[in-house]
Amino acid sequence: MPIDPTLPYDDTNIFARILRGEIPCGKVYEDDHALAFHDINPQAPSHILVIPKGAYVSWDDFSARAADAEIAGFVRAVGHVARAAGHVESGYRLLANIGQDGHQEVPHLHVHIFAGRPLGPMLA
Ligand code: 5GP
Repeated sequence: MPIDPTLPYDDTNIFARILRGEIPCGKVYEDDHALAFHDINPQAPSHILVIPKGAYVSWDDFSARAADAEIAGFVRAVGHVARAAGHVESGYRLLANIGQDGHQEVPHLHVHIFAGRPLGPMLA
């Protein structure tokens, strides 16, 4: 079910629990601002999620409230993960689902990195 974007941050969400180490994840990268791990239900040969360490529901919440250093750190982390995974030469896709119409299911901001095959045209 898509999240209700009007609700405040819920620190029991699954990615908050992964950040606290309560649930294992297939970690690929971590720094002061971000954690990256393999999606549990991959939609491409490589499907990595990158999340900020701060408590932000969505891209909308993050872009409105996060400090500049958090935003810069997160954006750099996404780029680093894609480069380190070897996706730059063949290309990849970034996706952030936001709110109900965006079909966001986990209420902690996450950017999907899809790669490893031709991904086709973007589906609106
Ligand atoms: P959304 O639709 O919110 O953009 O995507 C949420 C993503 O989180 C989905 O692709 C889903 O497979 C992934 N996911 C949900 N629960 C877990 C989990 O416990 N571990 C990992 N690694 N991925 C998860």
